[in-house]
Amino acid sequence: MEQLEILWKYQELDLQMDQLNLDIKSSDSRQKLLKLKNYLVKQEEYLVRLDSEAVRKGNYCDKIQQECDEIQKSIQAGIERLESNDDIEITELDEMNKQGVVLKDRLIKREAELQRLFKELDSFRKKLDDIRVKINRAKREYAAVKKDYDMEVASLRQDLAELKKKRDSLVPEISKELMTKYKNVKASKSPVISLMESNQCGGCFMSLASLVAQNVKDRKRIVQCENCGRILYYRD
Ligand SMILES: [Zn+2]
Repeated sequence: MEQLEILWKYQELDLQMDQLNLDIKSSDSRQKLLKLKNYLVKQEEYLVRLDSEAVRKGNYCDKIQQECDEIQKSIQAGIERLESNDDIEITELDEMNKQGVVLKDRLIKREAELQRLFKELDSFRKKLDDIRVKINRAKREYAAVKKDYDMEVASLRQDLAELKKKRDSLVPEISKELMTKYKNVKASKSPVISLMESNQCGGCFMSLASLVAQNVKDRKRIVQCENCGRILYYRD
């Protein structure tokens, strides 16, 4: 059957295209690019997380700072009251003294916390800077590898385009029905056409019934392997 011979040629070109596509996908620079891209995405996500945490920590610092300011204001008010010429009763003085001790204690604790937070925030910002540096480095590397990849792939793509042109030029000579069959099988198996040898399917090696084998040899109709679905072809 002439049709099958053309389809066979079509398949040869199709398989060459598959191989080229595989070469493009598995190219070293492509693998490197994918790795770098993954790394960049993860780092950027990390950066966003750290950034929002830095904002949160900064807000907390502001809150503690505000509390310190308020305590200081209360202490200052007490001092001003003491320094004024007002007569202060001994019970009020006692109360002010007690309050002063409490306020001072609170202030010391708050200020210590603030110092700790400042330190934390500082190391946190250093961490952020560090990540930004790493991201920039990875971006530069990405750009360099991309250049290699583009060059490597450009020639492969050209080969691919030529093969496709050759392959597709055969399509008008193949019946639509056969082409559809080819594509259906191709979706799950490759190669699609298997050569029949010693009455066996060349794809799955199942022995074919003699009537089926005869039909394949006659080339009068399209016969698919009952076991694997491949299109059987006999070449003498
Ligand atoms: Zn088979």
